[in-house]
Amino acid sequence: MDDLIKALNALLGADAVLEGVEARQSAFGWGRLGKPLAVVRPKSTQEVAAVLRLCHEAGQAVVPWGGRTGLVEGAYADGAVALSLERMNRVVEVDAAGATMTVEAGCILQQVCETADSSDLFFPLDLGARGSATIGGNISTNAGGNRVIRYGMMRELVLGLEAVLADGTVISSLNRLIKNNAGYDLKHIFIGSEGTLGIVTRAVLRLRPKPVSQNVALLAIDSFEMLPRVLRSVERSLGGMLSAFEVMWEDFYRLVTTPPAQGTAPIPHGHSYYVLLEAMGGDQAEDGARFESALAAELDNGQVANAIVAKSKAECQRLWALRDDVAQVVRHAPFFTFDVSLPISEMEEYVREVRQALLSRWPATALMVFGHLGDGNLHLIPCVGDGSHETRAAVENIIYDALRSRRGSVSAEHGIGLEKRQYLSYSRNAQEIALMRALKQTLDPRNILNPGKIFG
Ligand code: ZN
Repeated sequence: MDDLIKALNALLGADAVLEGVEARQSAFGWGRLGKPLAVVRPKSTQEVAAVLRLCHEAGQAVVPWGGRTGLVEGAYADGAVALSLERMNRVVEVDAAGATMTVEAGCILQQVCETADSSDLFFPLDLGARGSATIGGNISTNAGGNRVIRYGMMRELVLGLEAVLADGTVISSLNRLIKNNAGYDLKHIFIGSEGTLGIVTRAVLRLRPKPVSQNVALLAIDSFEMLPRVLRSVERSLGGMLSAFEVMWEDFYRLVTTPPAQGTAPIPHGHSYYVLLEAMGGDQAEDGARFESALAAELDNGQVANAIVAKSKAECQRLWALRDDVAQVVRHAPFFTFDVSLPISEMEEYVREVRQALLSRWPATALMVFGHLGDGNLHLIPCVGDGSHETRAAVENIIYDALRSRRGSVSAEHGIGLEKRQYLSYSRNAQEIALMRALKQTLDPRNILNPGKIFG
């Protein structure tokens, strides 16, 4: 491999290739990253292509790195060349008339949002890692987050992209059109494939009008069956303005509103569910009145037990901060995090079944549940046992077995990575997996691109 490292140095310049201790020091992120053989930091698509040509020839594994904030060990790069897009972080162009932005894959999500904002436009993807996650990573994982109910997942926010295949072929598919049915839509091969089919280098993003109003409320709801009723009813009454419908089960709400958490409870404890409701629209005065009357109707018909409306930007942020304060679970460490999808009609029974199974095995279990209910996506954080591998396997069995029978998904938005490989078949049938493998075989016959991820 010394020859390969030498060739990479000659190709990119020594400052673009980190080895040994330097490479290990740069290997920090939210999950395990292993010990990469080297970290290479190309500055252009052509350099990415040249790196891949060399690695392809040498049969060397390559793992793309974005912000390394993924949660399923998709960036684990032990013994691999980690290809970091950190130097490809430019906004190439904003087309205000066409409402698109062309960016390099290493652009930080927050920078993209701020750039759109300064052009009076809006890039709607919003998630906790916004300050370090990159657009390339968001594309590779088909990121979701808080506003999917209104704007869709990353897949819906990408018009075109450029990616480099395992052998160094550049597929430049920088489409800017909303409508383009000229054959296969190749971008979808790369979106959500976790860097196993190609390395995304640039993208054309779809922007939206910048919302003028933001209205946020916290609701308390006492029975699960009311949740979808309230969801559908406010969707209707808000006329397309609904931008978030985040549900917190009571244990989670208690956790984030009890010291040492910074947050205090705007509505008393004791209700079964708390909903963070957000609407965004184009007219501050009218939208506020419409929001209040939509809530008043829910209180009047008895579906909502209590509600408070944020009266200022600061109050909006305080309510969102409760939902975002997931870090409070460290008080109950060790814990395991899950990200599942299932039909809303199955959720109440699913959570009850999981909770019972966990409690019967570990009587001191705390189970935190919250999520994007409108998208059918729940995050479950069981805080149990000793954090060992065996405990993790036992908890996974409980969470995923109950999901399998309900035709849910083992990954709503985080991806499969290394962590969920053995459960892929719970959510995809044999024919689907065979076609995925055939695609992988066609595009990466030497299995150098993020090998071992998604499939075992
Ligand atoms: Zn989420």
